[in-house]
Amino acid sequence: MSTETSRPRPRPRPAGGRRYVPRRKVCAFCADKTAVIDYKAIGRLRRYVGEHSKIEPRRKTGTCATHQRSISQAVKRARHLAMLPAAAQHEFTW
Ligand SMILES: [Zn+2]
Repeated sequence: MSTETSRPRPRPRPAGGRRYVPRRKVCAFCADKTAVIDYKAIGRLRRYVGEHSKIEPRRKTGTCATHQRSISQAVKRARHLAMLPAAAQHEFTW
């Protein structure tokens, strides 16, 4: 019987450079105590939509659940008013 699988193996360290330390991102809206996210603040909302105009997930932006819901609502309102693109293809100018 092999004991290969039960032996603790040393984890490979990334060569040169510091190790990955997961760090809790703080919600930008909680930080400056924004209660309501303005759908007209396009500059701010743009940071929460990705390259393909999709709303970025919480794990990427660090937004809290409450504010993520507000962002989602605000982005959708902005899209409805055509202030934000609804899809990547809407941004292209041929
Ligand atoms: Zn928040």
